[in-house]
Amino acid sequence: MAAQTVEVTENAPSVTLGAAVGLSCRECGERFPLGPIFACATCFGPLEVAYDLPSGDPEALRKQIEAGPHNIWRYAPLLPVPTDVAEKPNLNPGFTKLVKADNLARELGVTGGLYVKDDSGNPTHSFKDRVVAIAVEAARAFGFTTLSCSSTGNLAGAVGAAARRAGFRSCVFIPHDLEAGKVVMAAVYGGDLVGIEGNYDDVNRFCSELIGDPLGEGWGFVNVNLRPYYGEGSKTLAYEICEQLGWRLPDQIVIPVASGSQLTKIDKGLKELIALGLVEDRPYKIYGAQAEGCSPVSTAFKAGHDVVRPQKPDTIAKSLAIGNPADGPYVLDIARRTGGAVEDVDDEQVVDAIKLLARTEGIFAETAGGVTVGVTKKLLEAGLLDPALSTVILNTGDGLKTLDAVAPTSGPTATIRPSLDAFRSAGLAG
Ligand SMILES: *Cc1c(COP(=O)(O)O)cnc(C)c1O
Repeated sequence: MAAQTVEVTENAPSVTLGAAVGLSCRECGERFPLGPIFACATCFGPLEVAYDLPSGDPEALRKQIEAGPHNIWRYAPLLPVPTDVAEKPNLNPGFTKLVKADNLARELGVTGGLYVKDDSGNPTHSFKDRVVAIAVEAARAFGFTTLSCSSTGNLAGAVGAAARRAGFRSCVFIPHDLEAGKVVMAAVYGGDLVGIEGNYDDVNRFCSELIGDPLGEGWGFVNVNLRPYYGEGSKTLAYEICEQLGWRLPDQIVIPVASGSQLTKIDKGLKELIALGLVEDRPYKIYGAQAEGCSPVSTAFKAGHDVVRPQKPDTIAKSLAIGNPADGPYVLDIARRTGGAVEDVDDEQVVDAIKLLARTEGIFAETAGGVTVGVTKKLLEAGLLDPALSTVILNTGDGLKTLDAVAPTSGPTATIRPSLDAFRSAGLAG
């Protein structure tokens, strides 16, 4: 990503976003006031939101959260959003199901408790509604009138829908060759949708140029100049998982990796819960999942490298097809620090895993979910995931958006004339 910053002038009106007190550089720690900036002016490191988190009685905070709405706004005290956020027009994502996956556990030999956090239940059927909801509040605070993004598909739909509901214009950018389900979802809300002749990394580079150009003035790119705020939305996955487990940390979490933002912010969310005293302070392990055809982070992990070398993506898991992941090095740090791993599976294993989850738990995941389930299976077989520990797998998107992945191998068992004789002959009775 190009290291560009937008100047925040001395006399710019100061913005308040809930408990957020500013932005801090993840590399050198330098602080900046809240604004639509994403790179450190000193070292070009990525910026993240810094907080003055509620101190005091964890029991009171837990009660306050539990009394909140059944969506991400129950965690508003821990997010960079205005205190009246729940009353504003938005899509209210989150509080998706945490499914105890006993059938899948039996199949995979997991005895310590296996759960699927099913984010396909969000308003536009992917986890991206969480991150967009936070970016929208930042966009409102900074006075942007157009919402934009570079997307591998799901983000474009989430931005289109959220923009419509919150009263923004939207213009979003995707690689030209995405799945039909993703393109339709990105277009149907009525904002502008632009297909770019290139892959995601080309789209992202284009958006970075647009931000620095007068053409992009007044535009909030949720995952570029609003990226520090956007990222915070993924913390809500950590909060929900722990709350749904009865305010307990899982032992192991398997998370798909595209840019790596989601994985790093789930880790941030877990650390916050520990710091706030909302969960017991004990170790957890974080695992990253990639598709073999776009595996820059797992390749670096397995080679023991600290540097993530960019790749040209070629995989059916298009939502994860980021060849030059912005948060790749942080994913490596977290996997290593927590004792986890980053692994990848090939396209055939992705399809098998989609079907495995569907036939064991009745959950139809998109290809990203197939990657995560497939990697979970592979890590168990390799002895890198402990089957005796509690494990949460993330399903981040809906299989209806990536039908092509399973369509060639999923069809009717038989096609018959409407007669009992024909049905008898098909051998399906009993
Ligand atoms: C965007 C996306 C991810 C990964 O997001 P990053 O934060 O970029 O790693 C995972 N799953 C689905 C379905 C997505 O759309």
